[in-house]
Amino acid sequence: MAEKFNNLINGVWKDSKSGKTFENRNPAKWEEDLIGIFPSSDKDDVYEAVAAAKAAFEKWRLVPAPKRGDILKLVGDKMHERKDEIAYEMTREMGKVFAETKGDVQEGIDTAYYAASEGRRLFGFNAPSELPNKMNLSFRVPIGVGGFITPWNFPMAIPTWKMFPALVCGNTCVFKPAELTPKTATILVEIIDAAMREELGKDYIPGVINIVHGKGRIVGEAMIAHTDVDLISFTGSTEVGKRINEVAGGSLKRVSLELGGKNAQIVMNDADQELALEAVLWGAFGTTGQRCTATSRLILHKDIYDEFIAKLVARVNKLKLGYGNDKGVDVGPCVSESQRETVNDYVKIGKEEDKATLAAGGDYAKEGELSKGWFYKPTIFTDVKPGMRIEQEEIFGPVLSVIKCNDLTDAINILNGTAYGLSSSIFTKNINDAFTAIRDIKAGITYINGATIGAEAHMPFGGVKQTGNGHREGGWTVYDFYTEWKAVYVDYSGKLQRAQIDNY
Ligand code: NAD
Repeated sequence: MAEKFNNLINGVWKDSKSGKTFENRNPAKWEEDLIGIFPSSDKDDVYEAVAAAKAAFEKWRLVPAPKRGDILKLVGDKMHERKDEIAYEMTREMGKVFAETKGDVQEGIDTAYYAASEGRRLFGFNAPSELPNKMNLSFRVPIGVGGFITPWNFPMAIPTWKMFPALVCGNTCVFKPAELTPKTATILVEIIDAAMREELGKDYIPGVINIVHGKGRIVGEAMIAHTDVDLISFTGSTEVGKRINEVAGGSLKRVSLELGGKNAQIVMNDADQELALEAVLWGAFGTTGQRCTATSRLILHKDIYDEFIAKLVARVNKLKLGYGNDKGVDVGPCVSESQRETVNDYVKIGKEEDKATLAAGGDYAKEGELSKGWFYKPTIFTDVKPGMRIEQEEIFGPVLSVIKCNDLTDAINILNGTAYGLSSSIFTKNINDAFTAIRDIKAGITYINGATIGAEAHMPFGGVKQTGNGHREGGWTVYDFYTEWKAVYVDYSGKLQRAQIDNY
């Protein structure tokens, strides 16, 4: 019998009102490993959770921020204690290898400790008044109920990037995780709720954290449209992000969108080729290419093009596919059958419509145990030209497109030539080229002599163009999203002083 999981609403774990459910299965062993049964919620469940979060906000906002930070510290400690267990379950439900899911949990731990310390900062600014005997202050206040909608590829890190700063700022949460990773999300909420109970004791506030499982177009849409949800933080596809912006715009909600990418690594002719090779293998095929920051394009200088591709193809063909919780596995499965079909459709486009050269992979991987899951061979297309569909569109799978460039200007133009702008990388030993790239690449993140993946929790994370709407997660910047500024004027002159009038 598969384990049954619930929503958490107003401090109580409960089934959806309709009793409807959905299954969560292992993408590496689809038929044999049923992980659990989760509630398939409707808008009534969302309404109950929003009402609970709204009521909880009036108490939670009054808990001192350092105390809220203490709770986040305990959350980080609990995640640390359960790190291996969480990583194992995450690999089981979404497929990336154990070392990577451990990294995903670690990012959540780092974010918890950062948020904990921010509870003692949340700095405001003061400025002098233009009038005598008057003091001007400004400080941050929480906003209210946050709706959090997240994808499956970083099922721990991404929800923590959003909810930990939101909570420490004094907001309450209604969380809708991806349908493909409900177990990791449930463990996270269990940990947050347990830490709240432990730290607050008899003053525990039900409804500060709620989780409502279910479909995006039902649960997600109900959250976005609800007038008592004050802000939405969404990470996912550009298509869904645009829809969210439209609906949320109707009630002028604050919206943070972290969307797709078509990231590129440039390798110049003076680069350390071994290092660049390691980076592209990790960037393109780590997490089976299913990262928003994955290296989807490799822009190679013409002088090293043939040599580099020969080495790369040899290395890619040696990558070991398998279940990510088994030792020695480099690449796990695609997250679902439909994701694997999308990958295969793009491979067909690469071969037939774009007429690029298939240099590696290009097919399902079905040998032996691999036939049990949604595996796809790591794939490389060469002779890809700027503007081809496989060069422009996000594939979100183990497919790398290689493009030849003539010089640095050409490389940067190719890199910048898509609708997205999340991550980017250049390998060069020339300091002038490196700084030119830092200046001219249009992306939220640029790595010099590093892969396109590897963001750290205390740095701003996000992208330009259609990768988002200008907000950043991570570090100090995210605290601007989860607070409003309140300006306060204290007049101790004993008379009515009129700014701009009495003094000029
Ligand atoms: P997705 O857009 O299909 O789903 C993301 C979330 O939105 C899920 O929880 C889903 O249930 C929900 N959703 C779907 N339709 C909805 C609707 N109409 N209203 C409200 N919610 C809805 O994305 P995915 O397949 O889970 O994730 C892959 C995408 O996420 C890729 O495009 C990837 O680039 C992007 N991503 C971006 C970042 C970033 O930080 N920029 C990070 C990770 C993933």
